[in-house]
Amino acid sequence: MQCKCGSDIVYYRRYEARGYCMKCFLDSVEKKFRRTVSKNKLIRKGDKVAVAVSGGKDSLSMLYLLNGIAKGFSLISFSVDEGISGYRPKGIECAAELARFLGIEHHVYSYRKEIGMEMDSLEELAGKKVKNCTYCGVFRRYVLNKKARELGAAKLAVGHNLDDEAQSVMMNFVRGDLNRFSRLGASPGESPKFVPRIKPLRDIPEKEIAAYAVLKGIKFSGDECPHSFDNVRRDMQGVLNDFELKYPGTKQQVVGFYDRLRGSLPLPGGSLKECEECGEPSSGALCKACELLFSLKVKRPDQSS
Ligand SMILES: [Zn+2]
Ligand SMILES: [Zn+2]
Repeated sequence: MQCKCGSDIVYYRRYEARGYCMKCFLDSVEKKFRRTVSKNKLIRKGDKVAVAVSGGKDSLSMLYLLNGIAKGFSLISFSVDEGISGYRPKGIECAAELARFLGIEHHVYSYRKEIGMEMDSLEELAGKKVKNCTYCGVFRRYVLNKKARELGAAKLAVGHNLDDEAQSVMMNFVRGDLNRFSRLGASPGESPKFVPRIKPLRDIPEKEIAAYAVLKGIKFSGDECPHSFDNVRRDMQGVLNDFELKYPGTKQQVVGFYDRLRGSLPLPGGSLKECEECGEPSSGALCKACELLFSLKVKRPDQSS
């Protein structure tokens, strides 16, 4: 089979029943990326965009793609070191290397310094087996927002792809959690301390991002987090992959359906308060990060120094 342009194919897109040569494939991913950014007005002229880079294929492809369209706005990148030995250091190395190659400023912030603990010691602190990903997710959102704001960013770009979005939609759906379902992807409310998040990879399937990174020669870390046992998400990933194989286009349909539905869903809206402990935006008296840190009896490091 040959590409429409006559060249040999390197990638077959099942949901279009079409093969692509390398050039046409890369072009089409870039086009889809640009369309997501412009259609949803993700970036405004003059914006400083803070790009969260873990060092995996998604975040690094996102940094590369954003750099390719960075006219009229600026980029700064940063990584969060959760304190997971044998895993995170490699990702941060890849992130720093790509940022250097692209000439983008890159920073590293650690859980140890920002919240006073590392993920490697969570079980010890909790005294029992807890859901690592839940804790890590809350802490990551906290550090990402705080640092993006301190870097003076107007937007925070995160590397969620189409698969991640479809999984999130379906997970809340099967849990029957209408509240979280309707808040998916929406801003938790207005606050000058909250940096709006953008997901420019949201319309691109994970497999295509991986192929893009490989074809572009982007060096990324493919390691899986050793603490990750978020079974619901992993199971849903399996279900969606099975469906996608049998019914190509399923993931797009799930996310597209959600987008059409979202206008009719009740939105939380309103304004956010400031956490009594740390001053970060929060819907309750304490933010989620402080709640968890209190439950773990972790003393937050002095931020004034
Ligand atoms: Zn072609
Ligand atoms: Zn707090």
